[in-house]
Amino acid sequence: MSVNTVAYKEIIDQFLLTDTTLVAVSKTKPNEDILALYELGQRDFGENYVQELVDKAGALPKDIRWHFIGHLQSNKVKYIAPFVHLIHGVDSLKLLREINKQAAKCNRVIPCLLQIYIAKEETKFGLDEGELVEILDTISSLPNIQIHGFMGMASFTEDSGVIQNEFRYLSQLLQKYQSMIKEHSGANPILSMGMSGDYTIAIKEGSTMVRIGSMLFGARNYTK
Ligand SMILES: *Cc1c(COP(=O)(O)O)cnc(C)c1O
Repeated sequence: MSVNTVAYKEIIDQFLLTDTTLVAVSKTKPNEDILALYELGQRDFGENYVQELVDKAGALPKDIRWHFIGHLQSNKVKYIAPFVHLIHGVDSLKLLREINKQAAKCNRVIPCLLQIYIAKEETKFGLDEGELVEILDTISSLPNIQIHGFMGMASFTEDSGVIQNEFRYLSQLLQKYQSMIKEHSGANPILSMGMSGDYTIAIKEGSTMVRIGSMLFGARNYTK
């Protein structure tokens, strides 16, 4: 087992001071690793793949809050709709409509974050501001979803100035729309940004929820 409990405790102490939520990103990692952090009190875990999430949710304690942080395909929403705690990567109205539909079937309201495109990389997903506004104009007609804020991924670069600018942009975008989101969701807005390599910058720029994987669980091996 490669869980870094020392790093975990340091991060948790730091996050308590700043009121930041840690989502422990456990994709590709075994259930024992998740349980090791669960036993230390961690309840928020993030996964990227639907089948893996469904399997883990079925096998692990029921009070875990499962965050879906990957790119979600509309045809797979139904598998996670009964139990998912927060969907971070909503990047189209089509997907949001499907989440609303599946949530209604489960008789629940599913909290979602809109993924905003902030990096200068073609490979990343997300909405631009125009698409964001279009979605915000529609949410009152979707009673089984609740938009709680935004999620973003910065460019994969060593240049911390670039990362800082991208996070700052997202933070300012949330400020611009926060009163609307607060009114809609009835809660303080969530800003999900920051991963193992850039979370300190993200917190400085106003992140309220950080998604950390490799720093806690070690490097991922996708070929296993
Ligand atoms: C994998 C992943 C993370 C965690 O990345 P680390 O660099 O391992 O901390 C965070 N967010 C998303 C969207 C991811 O896919």
